[in-house]
Amino acid sequence: MSKSGIIVIKIGTSTLTLDNKLDLQNLQRIVKEIALSKKKAIIVTSGAIVTGAQKLGLASKPKTIPEKQAAAAIGQSVLMRQYEKAFEKFGITTAQVLLTRDALTDKERYRNVRNTLTTLLNEGVVPIVNENDTVSTEEIKVGDNDTLSALVSELISADILVLLTDVDGFYIKDKKVDVIKKITKEIRFAAGHSLTEIGTGGMITKINAAQICMSSGISVFIANGRERGAINSIISGKKIGTKFCPKKYR
Ligand code: GLU
Repeated sequence: MSKSGIIVIKIGTSTLTLDNKLDLQNLQRIVKEIALSKKKAIIVTSGAIVTGAQKLGLASKPKTIPEKQAAAAIGQSVLMRQYEKAFEKFGITTAQVLLTRDALTDKERYRNVRNTLTTLLNEGVVPIVNENDTVSTEEIKVGDNDTLSALVSELISADILVLLTDVDGFYIKDKKVDVIKKITKEIRFAAGHSLTEIGTGGMITKINAAQICMSSGISVFIANGRERGAINSIISGKKIGTKFCPKKYR
């Protein structure tokens, strides 16, 4: 199996925010871990809509599409500024990459995105990806960042996708499952009935993301986004969170 050495880390809204406000401390802690890992890393970030709503002083998460799109436009630049500042401390440059589904399905655009991401990674830059919420309509949107992160992992042939969320892993009847080799009906059922985080997808989209990656030879981990050292533990092969094993070698 040819290893690309690339790790994709999806940071969910529940990891990036606390009480509907950007949790800057946790963002900086995760950035530090990624920077010190010295891996080629891509971040798929959520949290733009919640952060934008905070900036606008809205009491709750926006509900209408124009409100969400406006909040995303505001929050995305706030998020990028914070990522940029946090990585700068380690001499690392970041790049904003906003995608919609068509960028991942249209052959030519797919190639362009892949070339751009590869170039950025080769330059030591950390690409920070999100859905382009401000322009994405029903027809062209991916819809959730779990799926988006799986599609990005596939496109770039990542070795590992880490889904950081607000639970320690995948649970079936209150019991954490350490390793999953196959997505069974029982797993789908448990995912559909799990308590969902404040983000968009919950567990079912994580299972879908895992399925996409497993069949492309990529390992997936669901881990707690507030656990110190989680990313390094995963990179160094320690038992943490829930691991979804790749089906076959690339
Ligand atoms: N793109 C959304 C945001 O940045 C998040 C979508 C998701 O978490 O799945 O607010």
